[in-house]
Amino acid sequence: MADYDYDLFVIGAGSGGTRAARVSAAYGARVAVAEEYRVGGTCVIRGCVPKKLLIYGAHFAEDLRDARKFGWAVPDDCAFDWATLRDNVLSEVDRLNKAYTTTIESSGAEIIHERATIAGPHEVKLASGRIVTAERILIATGATPHVPSCPGHKHGITSNEAFHLDSLPKRILIAGAGYIANEFAGLFHQFGSHVTLINRTDVILRGYDEQVRDRLLQISTMKGIEFRFHAEFRGIEKQADGSLMVEMTGHDPIEVDCVMFATGRVPNTGGLGLENAGVEWDEKGAITVDADNRSSCDSIFAVGDVTNRVQLTPVAIREGQAFADTFYGNKPTQVDYDCIPAAVFSHPPIAGVGLTEGAAREKFGSVKVYQSDFRPMKNVLAGRNERALYKMICEANTDRILGLHMIGPDVPEILQSAAVAVKAGLTKAAFDATVALHPSMAEELVLLK
Ligand code: NDP
Repeated sequence: MADYDYDLFVIGAGSGGTRAARVSAAYGARVAVAEEYRVGGTCVIRGCVPKKLLIYGAHFAEDLRDARKFGWAVPDDCAFDWATLRDNVLSEVDRLNKAYTTTIESSGAEIIHERATIAGPHEVKLASGRIVTAERILIATGATPHVPSCPGHKHGITSNEAFHLDSLPKRILIAGAGYIANEFAGLFHQFGSHVTLINRTDVILRGYDEQVRDRLLQISTMKGIEFRFHAEFRGIEKQADGSLMVEMTGHDPIEVDCVMFATGRVPNTGGLGLENAGVEWDEKGAITVDADNRSSCDSIFAVGDVTNRVQLTPVAIREGQAFADTFYGNKPTQVDYDCIPAAVFSHPPIAGVGLTEGAAREKFGSVKVYQSDFRPMKNVLAGRNERALYKMICEANTDRILGLHMIGPDVPEILQSAAVAVKAGLTKAAFDATVALHPSMAEELVLLK
C-alpha cells in the first residue's frame, strides 16, 4: 500500500467537511482539513446561523407593536439599532468559529489554514506550494452566491455582505424569489427598509406548495413589500448621490440604496483542479457523485452543496457522516433523501415535508387534501390580520401522509416533530387518534378537515 501523508484530506471546513473530518479522525484515520477562510462554512459564518439571529431580531418589530394590545406601554419612539444587532450576531459567529475549530482539533484532525486544490488522484496542492498526499480526498467546498452578469452588477451585494452592512438601506431591491430573497425581504422590511423584490418569473419559492406560497405573497404584499415579476436585470447605474438606478425588463427603472442578489448559489468548483484527477462535474459546475459520495475518480469524494443535490446544512452533515461511517467506521451508509423537512424563515415562516399537493397529484393522480386555514389566537388579540394555513396531502386509498405544508407563526418548530410521522409513513388516522394539545397552533394538525 502506498505511503500517504494522510488517510483523508478534506477540502473545506463547512458543515459537511467538518462532520466527515472529525468523525473519520475519531474512527482513527489520519485526517487533515484545509480551510481558506473561516472554520464553520456558509451555515455558521454567513448563512443559517447569523440569518436566524437576525430573524429573531427582526421579529421584535411586530412583537413590540403587538405587545401594546397585550397591555404593554411600548413607546412610539422605540428605536432599533442595526449596529448593535449586527455586532452581537458577528460576535456569536466568532464564538461558533472557535467552537468548530476546537471540535475538529480535539477529534485529532489537523486544520490547515490555506486554500487547497486537487493536483492528482491522491495529491493536494496548498496555496503555499506544498504538495500533500492522501489515500482519499473529500471535497466539501460548498457553494457561492450566483450574481447575474449585467452592467453594473458589481454595485450589488449578496447575502454574504448583508451581515456586515454599515447601515440599513432606506430602499433595497432584492433580485430572486427563493429562500434567501424571501427571508431577507422579511428582515429588511421589519427593520424599516422599503423592500422591492423582483424575479424573472412570477413564481416565488418554486418547489413549495402553491397555496402556501400564495399566502406568503399575499401577507408580504399586505405588509408593504413590493413585488415585480417577469423582470430581468438590465443593469445597475450608480448615481452622483450614491443611489443606484436599476433597469429591468417589463417595468420602469427603480431607484434604491442597495441591490441584493439572491438568485441561487453555484457550487465552488472553479479553479479547484478537478481536471488534474479526472473528476467530472455537471453543467452547473457541481461534482457528480454516486450514492457513496464517490466522484468519477475512485479516490476522490464530495459532499454538501458542491454536489448540488440538496443545498441544506443537515443534508451535508448526513453526507459527511455517511462518508466517515462507510470508509472509516466499517458501517456502510447511504443518505436517504426522502422526506427532508425544510423551512423558509420568512415573515411569517413556511415549513414543509414530503410532496406538495401539485407533485402528489402528478405522481398519484388522485389524492386527499386536508387543511386548516385559521387566524392564530395571538394574531386575533393583536389585531393582526394574518391567517395561518396547514395542509396535509394523503394517498387516496390508504390515507398515508405524502406531505405536510404550513405557513404561520413558529411553523418550522411545529413541523420538525410532525415530519417524524410523515417519514415513518403514518396515516391521517394516526393524527386523528392523537388528542389535541390545547390551546396551541400545533393542535390544528390533529384537527385537519
Ligand atoms: P433559490 O434557488 O431558493 O432561488 C433562486 C431564485 O433566483 C429563484 O427565484 C429563481 O427564479 C431566481 N434565479 C435563479 N437563477 C437566476 C438567474 N440566472 N437570473 C435571475 N434569477 C435567477 O436560491 P437562493 O439563492 O435563495 O438560496 C440558495 C439555496 O440555499 C436554496 O436553494 C436553499 O437550498 C439554500 N437555503 C436554505 C435556507 C433554509 O433552509 N431556510 C435559507 C437560505 C438558503 P425562478 O425560480 O423563478 O426561476
